Amino acid sequence: MNIKEFLDEITTVFRKAGIACAEREALLLACHVLSVDQVYIFTHKDEYIDEKVLLAAAALVNERCKGRPLAYIMGSADFCGVDITVDERVLIPRPETELLVEEILRSELSKKEGLRILDLCTGSGCISAALADNLPEASILATDLSLKALQLAGYNLRPYGNVKTLRSDLFDKVEGVFDIIVSNPPYVAEKDRDTLQKEVRDFEPEMALFSGEDGLDAIRKILAEAGEYLEEGGLFLMEIGEEQAEEVLKIAYETGSFSSLSIEKDLAGLDRYLKARK
Ligand code: GLN
Repeated sequence: MNIKEFLDEITTVFRKAGIACAEREALLLACHVLSVDQVYIFTHKDEYIDEKVLLAAAALVNERCKGRPLAYIMGSADFCGVDITVDERVLIPRPETELLVEEILRSELSKKEGLRILDLCTGSGCISAALADNLPEASILATDLSLKALQLAGYNLRPYGNVKTLRSDLFDKVEGVFDIIVSNPPYVAEKDRDTLQKEVRDFEPEMALFSGEDGLDAIRKILAEAGEYLEEGGLFLMEIGEEQAEEVLKIAYETGSFSSLSIEKDLAGLDRYLKARK
């Protein structure tokens, strides 16, 4: 079997299994098993594939068809151009979360000398890794309640001398003030459990997804305390669910901690994160 036939075959199997982005996932999986990039796939269509590779690929295709997300199968996901190691201990980094990093990198504040950033609920450590990659002078604190997540975050953050990790239930163990606080907390409502994609619900960590009946438990706690840990003029960015904007704005406003508040949209035009200034 050559590369083109291989790719077509995986795509067909994925389609039959009802995988939404069958073509894209087949391409990513082919790159992974062949240890090549996408350009190589399209420029070497006639190249024959070793039997051993085919066998290994079949096992991974089978796993994917059973619902396990591709990022877990491959063991990594791209986030802002940084390769993040992932497994079932952490949420798979999502493209919409990259917007929070981009917002920080665009801000004047990111140029500040001695910049201090707090990344609450770091999970895989993706936000901190992407920030550290771009802001080597900043000092970054990445926290999570999950010890398992922190183990993996520590691994992902090992190339960066300017990031520390801390096990903390939101702000509980956090000390000091920060110029920027960023967070992708759990925000899925318990009542929406059944509407989640099966692969999310069955494979990604509960703790990183759900937060009480309306999904706002963690968000409420974070907003209640954020002001105390934010420098005057500091920036606060927090990812939210697409239907939570109004409620989140209200909660944030009622804390009296912020001088400006807005909800920013993701590339799909959905409300995606809260942006606030102290
Ligand atoms: N965006 C994720 C989802 O919809 C949820 C992530 C989160 O709760 N922080 O599956």
